[in-house]
Amino acid sequence: MTCIKTPDGWVNRNEEPCTTDQHGNPTRHCKRNNRCGRHLEPHDEMCPVCVGKIRTNLLAVEELAALMEAEAVVAGVNSEAANLAGPWTNAVRWDWARVNAVRAAWAKGADVEPVRADFAVDLLHPGTCLSYWERLLREDLEHDAVTLVSDTISESRRYLDWVLTDLARDEDRVLVLVELAGDIQRLRTHMEAVRHDSLIPELGAPCPACKEPAPRLKLDHDRADVTGASDQWVCSRDHNHRWIKAEYRHWVGTAYVQHATHLPSRELADRIRVPESTIRRWASGSTPLLRSRGRHTDGRKLYDVGQAIELRDAVSVSG
Ligand SMILES: [Zn+2]
Ligand SMILES: [Zn+2]
Ligand SMILES: [Zn+2]
Repeated sequence: MTCIKTPDGWVNRNEEPCTTDQHGNPTRHCKRNNRCGRHLEPHDEMCPVCVGKIRTNLLAVEELAALMEAEAVVAGVNSEAANLAGPWTNAVRWDWARVNAVRAAWAKGADVEPVRADFAVDLLHPGTCLSYWERLLREDLEHDAVTLVSDTISESRRYLDWVLTDLARDEDRVLVLVELAGDIQRLRTHMEAVRHDSLIPELGAPCPACKEPAPRLKLDHDRADVTGASDQWVCSRDHNHRWIKAEYRHWVGTAYVQHATHLPSRELADRIRVPESTIRRWASGSTPLLRSRGRHTDGRKLYDVGQAIELRDAVSVSG
């Protein structure tokens, strides 16, 4: 049964008020949002369809995060992809950084509110968003005796998936679940836009000239130049922090290459400081020492950075 919320309350498909079910008990509607309108089973607070949607979005975010690495190395890389594939700070370390910054501001007699605002969590990054939610729920549900927060996006995703069922039946926490659902939906939409659009997203990577946590850069369009070549990425905190697109791509790409777990041969050679010909040699023959792991969107093979480092170190020890 799917009902519609009106200013006068819930109505069913026949536009009759929906207040009681066939047994005369008061009807309860899914609390995900007013657009769902499904009836709830006695112990549920959010319907299984809406909970399933959160699960699907979490899985999509995990997959998109894995694909971002390949996306990020493509020539003319969309730099937000490199940012999303890049390093992030988990929620526990983030909290401590905030506590220390606020304490330092107190000690100097400075206003702490701007400092707190600076430490707002970046909910458009899969690492920080999932880590933030995992930490918040572990603390609230007392699941943090052993693990404060996971190290990887996949582990955070599995934890969140696991607690969804309980949260959907928890009258006191269903509003937290509604908020989580909204954040994960927005995160997925943002990541899909980055992956599928050739358009440059409105928000760029965090400002490299600001101290952590740095605000994301905004694209400043030069209306006089319709080619877009004169556009610049500008810091929202300090407008003297600005970069033309080529500079921006260069440093985002550099940060990415230093962090990625899989790279094409040229970037891998730069990262581990061996000639590209050596990498090609390792990867050649019928039983190559270094096996490729999938391909880039531009067709180049990707190699495991950790395995390549082991090969390099083994060669330098024996030679
Ligand atoms: Zn109803
Ligand atoms: Zn629902
Ligand atoms: Zn800045």
